[in-house]
Amino acid sequence: MEKVIGIDLGTTNSCVAIVENGTPVVIPNRGGYKTTPSMVAVTEAGKRLVGHIAKRQAITNAENTVYAAKRLIGRKWNSPQVKNAVATSSYRIVEGPHNDVRIVLRDKEFSVPEISAMVLQEMKVIAEDYLGETVAKAVVTVPAYFNDNQRQATKDAGEIAGLDVIRIINEPTAAALSYGFGRNIEKTVAVYDFGGGTFDISILEIGAHGVFKVIATAGDTFLGGEDIDARIIDWLVSGFKEEHGIDLRQDRMALQRLKDAAEKAKCELSSVRETEVNLPFIISSGRNEALHLQRTLTRQTLEELSDDLIERTVDICKQTLEDAKLGKDEIEEVVLVGGMTRMPKIQQSVQSFFEKEPNKGVHPDEVVALGAAIQGAALVDDKQEMVLLDVTPHALGIMTFGSYFEELIPQNTTVPTHRTKIFTTSRDNQTAVKILVMQGESQRAEENELLGEFILTGLRRAPKGQIEIEVTFEINADGIVSVRAKDLETGLEQSIQVTATSGLTREEIKTMMDNAKDDLVDRRTSEEFEAAKQEAEKLIGEIEKLFPQVQQIVASSDFGRDAIEKAKAIVDKARAAIERKDAAAVKEQIEGLTRTHRMFKGVVAKT
Ligand code: AMP
Repeated sequence: MEKVIGIDLGTTNSCVAIVENGTPVVIPNRGGYKTTPSMVAVTEAGKRLVGHIAKRQAITNAENTVYAAKRLIGRKWNSPQVKNAVATSSYRIVEGPHNDVRIVLRDKEFSVPEISAMVLQEMKVIAEDYLGETVAKAVVTVPAYFNDNQRQATKDAGEIAGLDVIRIINEPTAAALSYGFGRNIEKTVAVYDFGGGTFDISILEIGAHGVFKVIATAGDTFLGGEDIDARIIDWLVSGFKEEHGIDLRQDRMALQRLKDAAEKAKCELSSVRETEVNLPFIISSGRNEALHLQRTLTRQTLEELSDDLIERTVDICKQTLEDAKLGKDEIEEVVLVGGMTRMPKIQQSVQSFFEKEPNKGVHPDEVVALGAAIQGAALVDDKQEMVLLDVTPHALGIMTFGSYFEELIPQNTTVPTHRTKIFTTSRDNQTAVKILVMQGESQRAEENELLGEFILTGLRRAPKGQIEIEVTFEINADGIVSVRAKDLETGLEQSIQVTATSGLTREEIKTMMDNAKDDLVDRRTSEEFEAAKQEAEKLIGEIEKLFPQVQQIVASSDFGRDAIEKAKAIVDKARAAIERKDAAAVKEQIEGLTRTHRMFKGVVAKT
């Protein structure tokens, strides 16, 4: 049977899984990790790096390293979310030719689907390495709250990566599939999914014979772990400013180091009550003196900093239960998904809201990819008994006279579905009508997302209100929307399949597919450099950890001051070689770094 992989394309990390002999398994990457950072970078030499390799060099190459691209996928340039990302990202985001978003890496513009395609391609390669055969088909997951444009853009990304995305499914639905798979249970479950960039909640009914029915879903595509990291960064930056009068945000490299440290501290605080944020040589003072950042963050402070964000997720849960017309007591199981659900405060908040302990049996980082793999296998295996009934996350309708939004398919309607409504002309002698297909919850059309438009012409000239036009919306199992308008008098008909605009034309996707093929070579040839770099960075880290102590010793003893200068020079040289991606030069510096490290350790040990 044909192999179909399931990919959880996450904001922060991605994960790939497959069903093998009836059992869903996560496929580890070559480093042995079950998740891969959704990060992409372009080196000075023009090489593309994806995953852990990209993450490891993010500090030294912040401007050319993309993280959290999922927050931008399928979004319009003029959306507030994009404006926010432009202001806060360490990489450059510019306007594309179709009111879309482009990311500049080493002076070359990339579309967001193209960036996501690099991550998807990496996941494809991970699966192929493991299976020893090529993989062509995939089920990819998206947040339940993604609109059509975001879904289409994710599909485009799959295509650019050389994958046939046979189905896009919602992350919480995938999680429920994995939770319920093979257990023969009948339960109403809530899936609380708090990841790196998005928050989603879905209420599902798991019924007999593998029927998974989504009852309601909601979320916020701009609420995730990154927002909590941002709070920690703010706290560190303002503390540093108070102490030294310097704004660390002005320095991209410092900001990237802060970002890493903030996330690390946050994760540590899930298991310990306090942690030290230690960033030596974060910046130079006006007098050219190296400044260090050192602060203790407690779990309590972290909880205070993120309290309102966690509350927002609880509010969304409340709203979703109302939409589902269910009481808390009717939720029989709460499944936690996403890395952020490891934070104790989040677990407590969920428990106190639902008044029951969340299920701990699923792995929050893997459950979505496993669900996608289960769905993938079911789609190619006729013998599998599984029905997935999802809902539309947003209402669908058209714009009517006066810029009002007229809803045809309400939010949370089970798909596939179709609805029809009759409209009339709004002007005398009107011979054509323009149908603007929209998605959203606002009554004001301009506040909703425009999915597509078409014109029905050839209407008979008549006073307004006389000509009747029947509009039909249809959503198939893939979530693809088609709209038909019919002049009831003449039977004349026009229709469109709403190909949501990811911001890319077919031709552009084709060119990007061709370009993406070259990446495989790049990725696989960069390993020698990576090995040297890892070793050098480890040594640099060790040396930097010892720097403050050695500096103190220098200040109070005869220990040679020039040793410090020499050590700094070696570290700088090694960093520059890493930045240049010069494997030979990095290897050369490893010797000096090892010597320096040994000397520092010796000096510290003696005192
Ligand atoms: P996901 O999108 O599901 O991969 O979740 C990634 C998010 O979870 C990131 O913001 C991580 O920093 C966060 N995360 C991962 N592990 C932990 C942990 N142990 N404690 C708190 N947050 C975590």
